Amino acid sequence: MTQSGSGLHLAVVGTGALGSALLQRLAAVGMPSLLLIDPDRIEPRNLPLSPFLQEALLAHREQIAEYPYKAALLAAHAWAMYRLPWRALPCEVAAVGWQRLRACDLVCCCTDSALSRAELAFVARSLGKPVLDGAVAGGSIAEGRVTRFSPHPAAACYLCGMGEERRATVLGLAASATLGCRVPEDAPAMTGTRSSLDLVADTMAAVIRDVARGTAWGEISCAIKLYAADPQCSAETVELARSEGCPWHDAAAPALRDLPWELPLRDSLPRLHPGKDLLLDWPVCTVAVCNTCGQRCSPFQRVAVVRRTLRCPHCHATALQPLSTVSRIRAADPLALRSPRQLGQPIRHLYRLTATAG
Ligand SMILES: [Zn+2]
Ligand SMILES: [Zn+2]
Repeated sequence: MTQSGSGLHLAVVGTGALGSALLQRLAAVGMPSLLLIDPDRIEPRNLPLSPFLQEALLAHREQIAEYPYKAALLAAHAWAMYRLPWRALPCEVAAVGWQRLRACDLVCCCTDSALSRAELAFVARSLGKPVLDGAVAGGSIAEGRVTRFSPHPAAACYLCGMGEERRATVLGLAASATLGCRVPEDAPAMTGTRSSLDLVADTMAAVIRDVARGTAWGEISCAIKLYAADPQCSAETVELARSEGCPWHDAAAPALRDLPWELPLRDSLPRLHPGKDLLLDWPVCTVAVCNTCGQRCSPFQRVAVVRRTLRCPHCHATALQPLSTVSRIRAADPLALRSPRQLGQPIRHLYRLTATAG
């Protein structure tokens, strides 16, 4: 038995300044089951506020080429230093197969991207997972905050707390099949001080200890705690109400089922799940045009990836504009000749199925 208590399974999304500060605390108490999710490589700008990342880099300086991603380096360090078998997934949270997240008891959110937070909120709602979300000064946050999001369908999610306009922008980027202009995502710089970072990480670690001890998640609405950088300031707790305008509280959530990753849907869907259509979690771009060279391509990846990071296969510019997307596939559709893998779905996923349409 470790100090961290029971067999709690955690996922930590984001391993930058705040994520690595939290991980340092979880390593110190011997948290054994932890999934690290972060697509980013190690960059010098990550280091000044990340003692744990600095420590990991120093300890692995001879093998650094083997660990280009932050998540992989920190997992290797947790094993080398603490004998903790943490697993790293160097990808976006929206690209993680849901079978990997199904066993998690709690998802900790330490990313500084609004898009990743929104994608995580959808994944957590779909899988019925509670989220512990921390953030340090930047954007709309005064100094720092820790938010507990209950998995209850009636409870507010991260998206509920956004203004309508901001929500529309983030949803347009992540989940809209309508083909608007390319939307640049804001990238707020991490401006927090070490003291506010430590305060937020300490608070998150304390909540995790409570969860490990079996303290009930309890409340239906979630509580937000706001912290001032001055440690003398007392924490303020604010309840967050569910927003009627938030689309992610579907009472009749679709069934989650397994499908073979490599088999065409036309073969697997009618045999394993007759009368069902596949609802893709995120619209998948089937045709895109490059705004630089004008050539077309068929990415078969999430529209958020196509809009933000995918390079044109002809001129390598990051300037692809989705022309055609798909969100729902019937067994009779031509696209059902493709396998989930060929449709850009993650390995070890759980698929959302719904009664077939007309
Ligand atoms: Zn919501
Ligand atoms: Zn091009």
